[in-house]
Amino acid sequence: LPEYAFIGRSNVGKSSLINMLTKRKGLAMTSATPGKTMLINHFIVNDNWYLVDLPGYGYARRGKAGQEGIRTLIEDYILEREQMTNLFLLIDSRLEPQKIDMEFMEWLGENGVPFAIIFTKADKLTSGKLKDNINRYVRQLRDQWEELPPYFISSSENKLGRMDILDYIENINNSIKR
Ligand code: GDP
Repeated sequence: LPEYAFIGRSNVGKSSLINMLTKRKGLAMTSATPGKTMLINHFIVNDNWYLVDLPGYGYARRGKAGQEGIRTLIEDYILEREQMTNLFLLIDSRLEPQKIDMEFMEWLGENGVPFAIIFTKADKLTSGKLKDNINRYVRQLRDQWEELPPYFISSSENKLGRMDILDYIENINNSIKR
């Protein structure tokens, strides 16, 4: 089954987003099996795709060696999994573009890993500020990328972005099946 990975800096809102995507009527998490390590978790969704919960990166309290270990684990996993179909990189919509995320995107690009961006915690900003922040981010991405990655705006508080993200995944799944 195709796998879709979710990743981002610690505290970006990944657990909340995963709960929002999976825990609702008609979209039950039917099983949760531990991945290769306790750090990577797989959830089967609708019996037809796996949601892969990758560990958060850039967590200062892990220390430098710990962070590098996590990074290696993440990179090895992404490169080794043939079923890996798309990766979702979560970005806190309140923050200005962070170097660690930009570098991770560069790494994804260099390794040909398809990804989309999810801007999280949209409810924490006014709509004007949200728009400004997304525009600033998109401008920076345009400087770096010929083609802009797809992006979504989400809030786990009010389920913003939920259907768009799930539709995006279903569309890819359908195109693979054909
Ligand atoms: P993780 O470390 O990336 O898994 O982040 P969590 O999902 O644990 O979220 C970190 C903190 O941000 C928690 O206090 C959440 O309640 C909060 N949070 C996460 N997503 C949202 C959101 O969409 N809106 C708001 N207002 N708070 C959020």
